[in-house]
Amino acid sequence: MTKTTPMMAQYQKIKDQYPDAFLFYRLGDFYEMFNEDAVKGSQLLELTLTTRSHSAKNPIPMCGVPHKAVQSYIDILVDQGYKVAICEQMEDPKLAKGMVKREVIQLVTPGTQTDTGAAGAKRNNYLTALTMTDATHYGLAYTDLSTGELKAAELGTVDTVINELMSLQTKEVVVDPSVSEDLQARCRQLGMMISAQPDIQTSSELSYVEQDLTSDLLRQVTGVLVTYVTVTQKRSLAHLQRAVAYQPAAFLKMDHASQSNLEITQNLRTKKKSGTLLWLLDETKTAMGGRLLKQWLDRPLIDRAQIEKRQAKVGVLLDHYFERSNLQAELVKVYDLERLAGRVAFGSVNGRDLIQLQTSLEQVPQITHTIEELDEPVFDTTLQQLDPVDDVADAIRDAIVPEPPLSVTDGGVIRDGYSDQLDEYRDAMRHGKQWLAELEAHEREVTGINNLKIGYNHVFGYYIEVTKVNLNKLPADRYERKQTLANAERFSTPELKDKERLILEAEEKSTALEYKLFVDLREQVKKAITRLQKLAAIIASLDVLQSFAVVSEDYHFVKPTLIAGHDLEIKQGRHPVVEKVLGRQSYVPNDVSMNDQTNILLITGPNMSGKSTYMRQLALTVIMAQMGCFVPAESAQMPVFDQIFTRIGAADDLISGQSTFMVEMQEANRALSHATANSLILFDEIGRGTATYDGMALAQAIIEFVHDQVHAKTLFSTHYHELTALEDSLKALRNVHVGAVEQDGDLVFLHQMQPGPADKSYGIHVAKLAGMPTPLLKRAEVILTDLEDEAAKQPAMAAKAPVTKAPVTETSDAAPTTQSAASASESAAPAPASTVEATPESAT
Ligand code: ADP
Repeated sequence: MTKTTPMMAQYQKIKDQYPDAFLFYRLGDFYEMFNEDAVKGSQLLELTLTTRSHSAKNPIPMCGVPHKAVQSYIDILVDQGYKVAICEQMEDPKLAKGMVKREVIQLVTPGTQTDTGAAGAKRNNYLTALTMTDATHYGLAYTDLSTGELKAAELGTVDTVINELMSLQTKEVVVDPSVSEDLQARCRQLGMMISAQPDIQTSSELSYVEQDLTSDLLRQVTGVLVTYVTVTQKRSLAHLQRAVAYQPAAFLKMDHASQSNLEITQNLRTKKKSGTLLWLLDETKTAMGGRLLKQWLDRPLIDRAQIEKRQAKVGVLLDHYFERSNLQAELVKVYDLERLAGRVAFGSVNGRDLIQLQTSLEQVPQITHTIEELDEPVFDTTLQQLDPVDDVADAIRDAIVPEPPLSVTDGGVIRDGYSDQLDEYRDAMRHGKQWLAELEAHEREVTGINNLKIGYNHVFGYYIEVTKVNLNKLPADRYERKQTLANAERFSTPELKDKERLILEAEEKSTALEYKLFVDLREQVKKAITRLQKLAAIIASLDVLQSFAVVSEDYHFVKPTLIAGHDLEIKQGRHPVVEKVLGRQSYVPNDVSMNDQTNILLITGPNMSGKSTYMRQLALTVIMAQMGCFVPAESAQMPVFDQIFTRIGAADDLISGQSTFMVEMQEANRALSHATANSLILFDEIGRGTATYDGMALAQAIIEFVHDQVHAKTLFSTHYHELTALEDSLKALRNVHVGAVEQDGDLVFLHQMQPGPADKSYGIHVAKLAGMPTPLLKRAEVILTDLEDEAAKQPAMAAKAPVTKAPVTETSDAAPTTQSAASASESAAPAPASTVEATPESAT
């Protein structure tokens, strides 16, 4: 057995407490990893793996990172879903007797990472907690540690839980033991880290966060969350806000699949912001505004009065170009107040942060002035709430130099004149030499000894040196002998001792005092955290509102009128993102008209004609309207929707590991079971993923169900022309189609919605556009004519009658097709897969 060194024993003891984290063990200027941590860490971080104690039989694998660069290494590990425990030296190694005391000062995890840098400025990083009473009672709480936001909700189904977690884009979920293995497994599948609830009591210091919560479930789940952050962060969390209970039902509900299909905040292909509704709407000037915009997009409102209040403010800002420009110029100078407040609480704030805080606060009187200039009552509450927190701004201005250094421990942070004591130290530092010269001159004068001099050595410090010949001229009382040389004596006097103390200690004391003054100021600012957070919230919302005004002007949006009934009347509506990408000239606007008697629009038209764009356009318009933004149309009148359901073929079907058709049926089912008469449903080519008759039968049954049972406003696009006959039997269904014309055998898309069903599918035309070989296209035309002739002999399908099979060879369980040019011809007549369902991809 090799004997463990005391250091490795200490290491092991600490490591045992954090088995699932990388332990970064501080050793001088490095953080070291040992054993398995070192082996794995060296791979992940591309570090050189070395060993400790070369001579020993069992060398210990080791690798390290310099302490100055530690943050970037922590970020890499945490971004990859690991935890890092930072273990610090808790005393100065020079002064330590025996082993230096070490402690873990913070456990960094994906959900508690706060230093996400500039890239994360406009994104929240939410840590969530889950508890479960039974299969219909779940508690969910979430917080962003960098801003202190804290919310909790009671949820009734696993689906809503998953949905909330996905919407929040949480990377880490803290679960208490009640949460079922199944649910935990689903979270893991979705890439979330599951962390166990720590086995300790909640710190009473943070019990205030639960004050406003009324239910046991909410308090319990908030407790789990707060305990976890207390245990992992081990630092002040004074910026955690009182938990706010929220109900997902108080917002326009959209499941995560819909949010992602509609590309609200994330591009389906690139997973980035570009090309999304967020990208289009984001003209915010502050990071706080950017984050709030994303929150509003994730949770549009359902309360008409609330929406109208936002609309009114957007309208005012839209009409006042001058004030809006001023407001923007002021907002640009406002830094991230929320995260600054967070750093104040953590104690990680530095002088520059405080100057940023001061600069931000100095904008508030200007902002107030600008809003006053608008002279509009809708902003009265805003004005009342705009607290400039000037006591904090003043305190910082008085204390901190305008351009402080990054470090708060090396001095140079506090202004001259702020503290008499500090001024004295600084005076001592700056004027030490001059004092000594003056003192020397003075001593020469009073003693009459011309060669008297003041000197310094390490052992005795400052002294007055008098040669032996002159010793008799010294007055006896003031001079205290320090050292005797061969021909001189060295003395000190009370004045010299005074100066000496001042000079020697000045620098050390001055930096220490500066740090103390800085900490005092920080504590003073900390008392204002709640006020700063409230201010941040108001500024963020002003920022989002001005952003709405900007985009409404730039892209010619109008204020939608929200009405109580079920009429939907959009004139010349546009898909704002497609329009921006294509250019205003190239986009063809379209009306959506559905009155109380029309609930379903059955949309036909060739592939690529714009059916899916038309449906998405309506969903985006509804979302924008219910966020309080203006909408891309010439005029718009609409009810307030409670939920949006979409089934639009999307790329993420592929990664979910389920067949496209299964996902399609699940999403359709979700809509059918949860939609109300106040919901919006978008079904894009439902049923195309299975055999033709199978799919058509399902499609028809779904339409009938929506028509008879659900009564939601529904847009249903289809290639099954047979379905257009439903208009005769379903009174709330209307046919519309996207126009296309043939010119010299080529197909020209008009992108124009027209009443009635489409006359043809043009699938073969689209295949031609896709570049398929001419002989193949010719052959397809022949087959089509044959099939059409045969179909003409069959009796038409009766609405609500059982779907009978036509005598064509049907492929059972046709492979799920993605939207292909070939599938366009399905509507004309079904055909054997071998002929028509050739994949166009292989031809292009
Ligand atoms: P479909 O669902 O009918 O197959 P899409 O809605 O996917 O067709 O539209 C195909 C393409 O046509 C879009 O990518 C877009 O470039 C263009 N498009 C759609 N609608 C319009 C429109 N109203 N004006 C101009 N271009 C449009």
